[in-house]
Parts: sequence; C-alpha cells; structure tokens
Amino acid sequence: MSWAGGRFHKLRFGLATGIVVAFLVGLMWQSSAFVDFRLRLSNFYYVTKPTSDNIVIIAVDDHSIRQYGEAYQDWSRARYGTVLDQLTQADTRVAVFDMLFTEARSGDDDLQEAMLRANAGGTRVILAAAGTNTDRVLQNCATQFDSELSPIQRFAQRATYVSYANACQDADGIVRHYYATATHDSQTRYSLALSSYLAYFNISPTLAPQVVSSSSDGLLLPPDVAVPLDSNGLWMLDYHGPPGQTFDVYSIYDVAEGLIDPDVFTDKIVFVGLMNVTGAVDQRLTPTSVRGSLMAGVEINANATETLLSNGVLRYESRASQIITIVLMAIFGSVAYAYLRWYWMLALAGVFLITWIVYASVTFDVRNVVLNPFHPTLTILVALFASIGVRISTEIRQRQQLENELQSLLLVSQQQMNLSRILPLIVEDLKVMTEAPTGAIWMRNRHGEFSVFRKWGADAPYDAVSQRAAHTETVQIENRFLAVPIPWQSRVLTVFTVHLPHTNRAKTVQAQIERFGNQIAANLENARLFSETQSQNKLLQGILEESPAGVIVLDDALNLERYNDVVIKWLQIKGSGDYRGQPLSAALESGNIDDATWMGIGQGLLSQQPFRLEVKSGRRTFQLDAAHIMGDRRWVITLSDITGLAELNQLKTRMIRMASHDLKNPLGRIIGYGELIEEIIDSGEDAEQMRLFLQRIITSAEEMNDIITEILDLEHIRAGLIDREPLDMANVVRYVAERHQPDADSKQQTLTVNLPDSAPMVNGDFNHMVQAASNLVGNAIKYTPNNGHVTIRLACDNGQVKLSVADNGYGMPEEALDMLFTEFYRVRTEETKHIKGTGLGLSLVKSVIEAHEGRIWVESEEGIGSTFYVELPIADTETEAPT
Ligand code: ADP
Repeated sequence: MSWAGGRFHKLRFGLATGIVVAFLVGLMWQSSAFVDFRLRLSNFYYVTKPTSDNIVIIAVDDHSIRQYGEAYQDWSRARYGTVLDQLTQADTRVAVFDMLFTEARSGDDDLQEAMLRANAGGTRVILAAAGTNTDRVLQNCATQFDSELSPIQRFAQRATYVSYANACQDADGIVRHYYATATHDSQTRYSLALSSYLAYFNISPTLAPQVVSSSSDGLLLPPDVAVPLDSNGLWMLDYHGPPGQTFDVYSIYDVAEGLIDPDVFTDKIVFVGLMNVTGAVDQRLTPTSVRGSLMAGVEINANATETLLSNGVLRYESRASQIITIVLMAIFGSVAYAYLRWYWMLALAGVFLITWIVYASVTFDVRNVVLNPFHPTLTILVALFASIGVRISTEIRQRQQLENELQSLLLVSQQQMNLSRILPLIVEDLKVMTEAPTGAIWMRNRHGEFSVFRKWGADAPYDAVSQRAAHTETVQIENRFLAVPIPWQSRVLTVFTVHLPHTNRAKTVQAQIERFGNQIAANLENARLFSETQSQNKLLQGILEESPAGVIVLDDALNLERYNDVVIKWLQIKGSGDYRGQPLSAALESGNIDDATWMGIGQGLLSQQPFRLEVKSGRRTFQLDAAHIMGDRRWVITLSDITGLAELNQLKTRMIRMASHDLKNPLGRIIGYGELIEEIIDSGEDAEQMRLFLQRIITSAEEMNDIITEILDLEHIRAGLIDREPLDMANVVRYVAERHQPDADSKQQTLTVNLPDSAPMVNGDFNHMVQAASNLVGNAIKYTPNNGHVTIRLACDNGQVKLSVADNGYGMPEEALDMLFTEFYRVRTEETKHIKGTGLGLSLVKSVIEAHEGRIWVESEEGIGSTFYVELPIADTETEAPT
C-alpha cells in the first residue's frame, strides 16, 4: 500500500470513528444519561472569589443558644425585635429574616413594633415563606406550590416582601439553582434573593412588576442584571466561597447585646438565620461544600443575593453549542488519534482535557458560562478508547493475517520445488483470504500462453480477461470478478482470478492478493522452473533410453554423468549397479572390450579432441564417436553397432585378396595355356598336345566358375533368400550320397549311408540343404585318401534332427578348427596342400545351417579323421505343413 493510500485510509478511518463516537455521546447527552455525574463535574468551577461586601449575616448559632440558655425554638420574638432595632439604627438597607414566623409566639408584639420602626427608619424588612409540595416532595425544585407556610398576618403586613426561601436541590442533592418566582393559589412571590436584591435598590413590590421585565430568556433586573431562566423557571447562582467564609457573620446574641459595632450593618443587606447550629435542619450541600460542611440555608440565600448584586448569574452554553462541541471534538480527536501511536494518543487526550478545563474555567470566569464538562470529556475519552480499541483490533487482525501468511509461506517453502504441492496450498490461502467460491491460478504453459493450472469452484469462463490481466493491470468486472497479475522480474508470473461473493471488498481483496502474491512469487517461480527442468530432464532421459544407439555423457572429470542401457548391453558391462558419478574407466574395465580399445579410448579423451574408434566387444563391432558438448568440457560419446558393416567389409577384403590370389592362379594358367596353344598353331605341331592344353584351360575356367558360384551362393544365403518348406532330410541324404557315389568309387572309398526307419521333417530349402550336405560329403571324400571310409548318418534326438558326416581321412590340427568356418580359410597340411578348393564350402554350409536355425560343429584329429555334425530343429508339422 502506498504512502498516500495509507494517509487517506487513516483520514477515512478517523472520520468514521469520530462520527460513531459523536453519535454515541450525542445520544447520551440527549438522553440525559449520567446527569448526576455531569453535575458533580461542574462543581470544579466554583472557587473562592471576592464578594461585593454588601451582605452580612446574623447567625442564630450555638454561641447565642448557649448565651441565652434556651433552644432557639423557645426564644421570645422580642430578641429579633431588638436586633431589628439595632439594624434600623445602623441604617441597614434590608433586613432579611430567613426564618418562618408561621405561628404566634411570645414577643411578637415587640417584633411587630420593631418592624414598624424599621419601616419608618428606611430599613426594608423581608420575611420568608416556604412553599410545600405534597406530591413532588423529592422533586426539590418546583415553582408551583400546593400549600404555603407564610408568616403570621401581622408580620406579613409589615414586611416589604414576603418571599420564598425554599432551597432548590439538583438531582445530585446539591444546591446550584434558584427560583425567580413561585406561585401558590395564583399568588406569585419572588424568591428571597430576588426580593432582597429589589429591596436593596428600594424597589417596592408595587413597583417591581414594572421594573422587572421578563423575556423568553428570563428576567432583566435593574440596572441591567440579566437572569436567564431555564424551562423550570430556575436560574443558576454562583457561590463565592466555602461555607462560613464568604460573608461577615455575627452571633445574634452579640448583636442583640450591642457588642457589635452598628457600622458593620450600615447600608447592607443583613440576613438573619440559622447558622452554625448543631443539628440544624436548614443545611444543604453546595458545590463549594461537597468536601466540607453543609452550608446553612441563610448563607445559600445570601450567595444567591450576592450573585445578583455582583451580576454573576451563570448561564449554560446553548444546546447547539454543546452538540457542535461534541461533534467537533469527536471528529477532530478521532482523526488526530488515527495518525498517532497509542502513547501519543494518551498524551493528546491529556492535552485535550487540560485545554478543555482551562477553556471552561476561563469561559466561566469571564462570561459566567457554565460549559458542560462531562460530555466533551466523555467524547475525548470515548474517542481515545475507540481509537485504541480499533487500533488494537486492527493490529491483532493484521498480525493474525501476517501469521497466516507466514504460515503458508513456510508451508510453501517447505514444499520447496514441488509445483503440484505448492499450488493446492496457494488455492487454500486464496480461498480463505478472499472467501471467493470460485477462482483459479493461471500460469504460462509450454506455448507461452496463460492457462489454468489449478482452480476451485465452478468453471468461470474468464479466459480472455485473464489473458488481458497477464499483460496489463488488474482487471475488475462489476467489483465481483478480479484478475490480479503477479509480476516476477518484470514479467507476469501468474494471474490469480477470483469471483467474490460481495462487491464491497474488491479493493481490499485486491491489495491482499497482491501482497500475498509478491510474497510467494519467488517460491512459485522456483517451483515452475524446477518442474520445467524436470520435464526437460524426462524428455532427455526418454531420448536417451529409447535411442537405438548407445549414449554416454561424461563430466569434465571423465566420470559418467548419464548413459543408457544400450551401452551396458553392448559393452557387456557387468554388475547391476548405477555407474553414474563413477569414472568411465571403471565401467569399461568391467565390460568386455580388449585392451587396445581401452587404451584407444583413454588416449582419445586425453587428446581433448573429438575422435572416432572401432570397438570390438565379443563378436560385435561398434563405432565409437566422442565429441565435446558445445562450449563445455564434458563429453558425449555415441556407440553404433556396425557389426554387419564390419563383416561386409571383411568379406570385401577377402574377396579382393581372393580375386588377387585364388582367381589369379587359374586365370594365369588360362593365359599360359592360351599362349602355348597359339605357339602350337604357329608351329603346326601336334594337335593332341593342343587338346590337352585346351582341357586345362577349361578346368581352370571351371575352377573360377566354382569360386564365383560359391560366392554368389554365400551372398544369396546371407541375404536370407531361402524358401522353407517341410523337408525330409532322408531324401536329402539319399540324393547327396547318390550324387557322390562315383567320386567315392573313383577313390576306392566306401560310402555308407545310415538312415533311421522314419525321420521327422525339418523346415527347409531342399536345394540349399542339398548344397550343404553335398559340401560336407564332398569334403569327406576329398580329404580322405584312397580306400578310406565315409559314413553319412541321420538320426533323431531330443527334438532335433542330427546329421553327421564322418571320414577316416587326414583330419585337421586342433588350432585350425576355430577358423574353419570363415570364408576362404583352408587348412594347409603336407597331405592336403595339393588338394584344390576355394575355402568357401564350409562357410556356405554354416550359413545354410544357421539360416535354418540349426548349428554345426566338428570333431577332428590329424591322421585319424573328421566328423562334421549338423543339428536342425524338427518342423512343427501341424502348423508348418504346406497347404
Ligand atoms: P575347400 O574348398 O578348401 O574344401 P572348405 O571350406 O570346404 O574349402 O574346407 C576348408 C578346409 O577345411 C579345407 O581346406 C580342408 O583343409 C579342411 N577340411 C574340410 N573338410 C575336411 C575333412 N573332411 N577332413 C579334413 N580336412 C577337411
């Protein structure tokens, strides 16, 4: 998330918190919740301040009670008369009796007289009345009374004002409010403080209604004291100090006895009432006394009067101002908190509170406005706790999310390279993160296009969109479908598509997916590369395994890096172990190759140049090609089977040798005899001689013909050109014996044929089989001196037809037997070196027998004789019979 995004996010977050807090606190404010607490909080405004010094209190106190030796209830009213007289003489402006003279008592006459003197002397007398409220006893403030306790008639008549002295307690029992007027039986009286004030300015009750103007806000007293009244007709008085310390207080006894200088009462409002009396009932809690003693009713009244005198009536701030304060504080506070760490939040809240207190105090002192301290404080604190709470929960959520991501990262990295294990993990994470019921992971396939590698939920046909996302930014459709590309090294590695269940989370989910994607990108790319490498490896291995050639790859230390089974088979390398990582020499050593080849390979590799060698292993020949892998010091070696080619090559070589040797002899003879004949013709000599030479020419030509025929036969058979059919070998033997009988006869040899009663059939070519048998019988006659024995035997044994041709001729030395069946090989002993032959007969026989899946071998001893054995498989007559 970008820095700007973060700032915007915080602002939005702060505003939202602020609005919620403002709403909550506003609701509380409106419902007057916590009124008690709110009232108590306002107590801190009331501090000691100087008074106008126009009020004095005369206390009916414990001191006076002690002096008179009577409970004040039993006092004669003459004592009050005495005091009033003192005040009159001292030119007191107003004498206020905050006591109820509701029934007649001794000394009433004296008091009445004193009141008359006071009236005459210019001292206004105010008496107290008390309104009582039967059905609203606990509701301490009422301006409509059911009944009234008023002074007795003759006092009331002489008083300037009779006024209500009721104390008005707030819900918390503390006196802060005060009446302006109250009514009983449609007679309205001023409150004690109000009438004291009016009387102080010598405004008579008759004049009062004209000078006291009332408006919707309250009353306006002369000269210009505004008394705002609330909906209950109450105003708020200010207190001027702790109980007993605001006004000058004198004991009534001292005043009555003339112990007090009368001057202290001159021009003052003098309140007379119960004060500092143990167990008195007229005592109340006031804001200034909540921690100390109760305040006497008289002092409360004096404070109220003082409030008017000093024009210090308090006002509450307006409702509009209150609600604006709450809203502004909530929003401003929450927004500020949103940008701060928690400890700075606390500090800021402290600053807010202190600023608020200072501001409220200043407002109170300067403008007499009582600011509601509770709700703004509450706002600051609720905003603080809400912000901290939300911050903590966000942090916890983020941490949990981080932990989840770490967990999955860990899992992903534990899966290391395995794409098939990583992808399901990623799917799980995406599912949890996005709550999307449908989604997919797209990655580049072999053709470089993005296709679905993994998906969940129903198929979502968003192919085109995902392809677009692979090239550009995130694609969003209707805030429901998201295709988020995850880049890795400046190209898109994967695209995550999700179909969201709700439209409102698209932005958040996108950010989450991007962050998640960035974290796993490295692992995912590794896994992708690994799986690509693996599949290439597989392909390479496949090529290697299926290759018809042997392939070996050597590392730069000439150790085997790779090889295929063909190599093992062809070179007959023993041991079933894995030779990878082992030196090539170790593998070759356990194979079947000759020392010369082994050395040749070693030299070739050491030369560091590409090389080609012919390798013989057993009876097979291979071509070995070795070259460096491009730009590398490693080697790649291929082996190709060239056995057939090598044989052909050998044959070719022998053919040439034979042509130069075996054909040259008869050819030379033909030329020689030809020349001799020419000479004879020239000299006209004996024609008989010429016939002999011609005969020799023919013999030599026949010799050449034999050789060429046998070569052609050999090639014919090697090319596999034989027609096989069920064949009775007895017929072959009889036919051959018959053909060779004259040869045997000419050497006086016995030719014995030994046939079984019935011989099973073989599967073969009659002509070729005759040719083979004929060769064997011909050789036996040829290499057996006159009078010898040749025996042809046919037998059946072990599912094989066995033919043997035995003679008691010259035999062969043992060392000749190995080479006997190779082309042009002839045994040259003293006895046989004059016998003519091509050296092709036996190799032809062998080729014929092998073409019939048979085998041939020989037993021979020099001077004793030879026996050739042939074994042929019996034909499966049921299936092989000609149709
Ligand atoms: P050739 O045309 O020389 O007979 P063959 O391939 O038939 O060629 O025989 C190869 C050699 O094997 C002969 O040269 C001969 O020395 C030896 N050989 C073949 N058959 C016999 C046999 N029955 N007794 C002794 N030597 C034989």
